[in-house]
Amino acid sequence: MSDKKTKGLWASILGMKCPRCRLGDLFETPTFSFQKSFEMPSRCPHCRQKYVLEPGFYYGAMFISYILSGWFCLGLIGLFMLVLGWSVWTSFGVLLIICAILFVWFFRISRSLYIHIWVKYNPKYSKINEGDSPKDS
Ligand SMILES: [Zn+2]
Repeated sequence: MSDKKTKGLWASILGMKCPRCRLGDLFETPTFSFQKSFEMPSRCPHCRQKYVLEPGFYYGAMFISYILSGWFCLGLIGLFMLVLGWSVWTSFGVLLIICAILFVWFFRISRSLYIHIWVKYNPKYSKINEGDSPKDS
């Protein structure tokens, strides 16, 4: 019997959920609340998975962020200039505004993607109740 609340891999990454149980939130506040944007709890509130596996763990997420935002910006500038025919100044002005708004989202999605690479989903942890302590955490 599957738990209806448990998400798939991409839903878990995009929803910024714990990679092990896919239920606990990676961040305490919503992305676009712009409050405590860069703070993560030390452990999953649901299964107690550590979110920082080792010191400097999220260093690798910077590269993911760089790649994602780089391709995003190239695509958007291409759309503005080649498809919509906007000028260079208008295109980069709009791009700057969009990137300023999406900055926190890129930061968070990169961390979410990165921790999903290293921590594998374990359905056992989706079934435990919040507050229970799993044996091998
Ligand atoms: Zn969890």
